[in-house]
Amino acid sequence: MLIDQEAKIYKTYVVTICFVVALSLSGVFLGMTIRTRSLIIEELVAHSRAYFETIVATRLWNASYGGVYVEKKPGVQSNPFYPNPDLQTKDGRTFTIRNPAMMTREVAGFIGKEKDFSFHITSKKLINPNNTPDSFELKALDLFERGRKEVYEIDTMNNKKYFRFMGPLHIKKDCLTCHAEMGYKEGDVRGGISVTYNIDEVINKLYTNGIFITTSAIATIVLLLSVLWLLTKRLMLKISDTRKELEVMAITDTLTETYNRRYLMERFEEEFDRAKRLQKGLACMLLDVDRFKSINDKHGHQIGDEVLREIADSIKRSVRKYDIVARYGGEEFMVVSPETGLDSAMLLAERIRSEIKSITIKEIKVTSSIGVTTFRTSDENIDDIIRRADENLYAAKSAGRDCCRSS
Ligand code: GH3
Ligand code: MG
Ligand code: MG
Repeated sequence: MLIDQEAKIYKTYVVTICFVVALSLSGVFLGMTIRTRSLIIEELVAHSRAYFETIVATRLWNASYGGVYVEKKPGVQSNPFYPNPDLQTKDGRTFTIRNPAMMTREVAGFIGKEKDFSFHITSKKLINPNNTPDSFELKALDLFERGRKEVYEIDTMNNKKYFRFMGPLHIKKDCLTCHAEMGYKEGDVRGGISVTYNIDEVINKLYTNGIFITTSAIATIVLLLSVLWLLTKRLMLKISDTRKELEVMAITDTLTETYNRRYLMERFEEEFDRAKRLQKGLACMLLDVDRFKSINDKHGHQIGDEVLREIADSIKRSVRKYDIVARYGGEEFMVVSPETGLDSAMLLAERIRSEIKSITIKEIKVTSSIGVTTFRTSDENIDDIIRRADENLYAAKSAGRDCCRSS
């Protein structure tokens, strides 16, 4: 019962530790994945910002000259939204103006389709209907009006991943030349430029990185938990072994390795209650080594100890396995035999006595006297039985020792 409870506590303890370790490690790996992703996004934003700033700088260059003129060769269109876009030179060549908006649109058109990169100038108040904003751009323009400095997101178009970035275009002094009539003033958000480019390669690397981190996380967690599980299991076994050893030690006499007196009394009480309840026999034998003092005196205490150990082993060999053999005192042993009547007890006592007599240690011969008795219904407790056994032992000693007496 106690072992079951202990095992349950150990199990809960191990499972809790494993759970905490697994959760912490998962957290660390998840944190790593999120951090990597956010670093890459930061990098993409920085990239986009550089594109955007380059376009804006080119536009400012154009605006600072109030637009630049290009020669109107065949195929070159005039800006239809500009009053008097063309001018003639004295030598008969025609030049047409390119304001920032038109220049931006034309440069964007120069980027080849295979580049998977584009930018787009747009506004909510359009002069040129070709510059209509898409849904991302419209959302970004709304946000710019509310003070946002830049807007970005990852979009999927035709099963490809694109990074989309958009920055605002503010009305500068030079812009008012064209835009003042639309009600703008300096500092207003005139529109924005969106930059769009393919990031399939980055996303694939992120995905591979994610798989690598997940696999590493699972492998690390499994390895750590296995080690933890094994170590705890070994520790549990060690604790269990030590506890068992301690339990045995607590009920064992260290010199003779028979039960000690405390355990004997506990078991004797149990057997007494059982005998009383079930009206079963219960025998008690009190054994005292004869003239043991003289063995000690003649051969020394060490040899005396050895003799006591031999006697104990001899008694254990003589009894049945459910008999209780204990060291009762210095050179006294007690045997409690459940379900045993007086005749059987006497036979057992005689066997014990004759076995002890046959022991020879370093040419030392030893004998014992045994007082035998059995449970009687008149007995109130084990003290009544022990008293009778002691009286019978005394009778055996008086009868000249090396014999058993019973009543
Ligand atoms: P009797 O036949 O009347 O029992 O004589 P005895 O000498 O055995 O009786 P006594 O009670 O006078 O002596 C018991 C001796 O047992 C005394 C003590 O020194 C010895 N003894 C008790 N415990 C131990 C022990 O653990 N080791 C050793 N070596 N001797 C012990
Ligand atoms: Mg004695
Ligand atoms: Mg003695």
